[in-house]
Amino acid sequence: MIKDKGQFLAKAKALLVQNIQNRTIFTRGDLSRFLSLDPKIQESLDHLVTLQTLTEQRYIDWFEEPDRGGFIPRAPANLNSVWDIASTPPAGFTPDRQIYPIAGSQQVFACPVCSGSGRLTVACYSCGGSGRRVCSRCSGAGIEICRDCNGSGARTGFNNRLESCTWCKGSGRKICYSCDGKGGEVCNTCNGTGRVIKTCSKCAGVGRLIRYQAVVCVFNPHEFNEVVSQWSLPLKEIKAAEASNTWQTELNPSSQSVFSQFNAQVQSAINSLVSQASGLEVGDTRLVRTQLTVKAVPVANLSFRLHGVSGDAWFLGKNFQRVYLPKVPFTFETWLKLKDWFSVGLTILSLIGFSGFALIVRQNLYESATMVWLLIFCCAVWVVSGLVLIVRRLIAGLALFAVTISILVALITHQR
Ligand SMILES: [Zn+2]
Ligand SMILES: [Zn+2]
Ligand SMILES: [Zn+2]
Ligand SMILES: [Zn+2]
Repeated sequence: MIKDKGQFLAKAKALLVQNIQNRTIFTRGDLSRFLSLDPKIQESLDHLVTLQTLTEQRYIDWFEEPDRGGFIPRAPANLNSVWDIASTPPAGFTPDRQIYPIAGSQQVFACPVCSGSGRLTVACYSCGGSGRRVCSRCSGAGIEICRDCNGSGARTGFNNRLESCTWCKGSGRKICYSCDGKGGEVCNTCNGTGRVIKTCSKCAGVGRLIRYQAVVCVFNPHEFNEVVSQWSLPLKEIKAAEASNTWQTELNPSSQSVFSQFNAQVQSAINSLVSQASGLEVGDTRLVRTQLTVKAVPVANLSFRLHGVSGDAWFLGKNFQRVYLPKVPFTFETWLKLKDWFSVGLTILSLIGFSGFALIVRQNLYESATMVWLLIFCCAVWVVSGLVLIVRRLIAGLALFAVTISILVALITHQR
């Protein structure tokens, strides 16, 4: 309930101005001037009814894995129903998956991939199965071109006379020093066999596989919401608002737990959610846990006028802190009226100052003292109005300086 109406209206106006300012180009000052609130406040207590459930689905499936000897049956052999065993539901409303191996269902057999050895012989990844690695220096040729004579076999000696290259004895070729002329070497990964042994991935090297049946329990959370609002406010808004009161209780869906303290609409929302939740119980899926939360959210509705155009706003939550304004009511006339003419004026003034300044610099017109004073004046108009614009409209002000300074730089460099 609103206690102090005057205080509420002042706060509501500030919140509304802030909201419209964030969504439009209007300034805070202009909005405060052109926004008037209708003093008629309509209050209501809206509710958000939330039903959280955790369901458990069970089924029997086959599993196959390496037989590490750790098979522990967690379900008896002669199972009449998947529901005969007890599972451990997770705390709260979080998903989970649990596997209960059935006693006596296991079969151990040799891994068909590695024939029970746990190892596989495959082509060597290092040499591609050839057993040899080709010398990278000579590409397997065993000889290389002599670097001292570039393969010519000759060199320039004393008095520019051509002599035979001493390193290759005039042949221009040398035995590859990397492979000693062999053209390659035995692969050291496979010792020349071309094959390597690796662990079988199917049985993880164990050699045996185990196949068994298990009861699988899958836990899934769900959430159902219903808004009971006099104003048909969207779920997102009600959900985000701070509640004045919250009730929470675990529900047994089969029992008719009636919240007699709530009004008929809230009670019917509860019943509707409970029936939706019971719809989850299909086949081998059951409800493990059902929690009902009822959140009371105070709402105040206000009409306002923004330069003659009327609109509706809602203030939600314990302290009416959250504004819900579906659309800002304004027309082209509002836009013209609220347009930030002061900033437009500052931009034009700054550009005029800059033009004068640039013209004097461009034409080298500063021989007389009058022209120098005019130069200083134009520069001051340009900079000061630009700085005021930055204070008022940061991005517009910075853009103005970026443009004018780059024009100036272009002018000066062109002059030289
Ligand atoms: Zn294997
Ligand atoms: Zn040589
Ligand atoms: Zn070589
Ligand atoms: Zn190899």
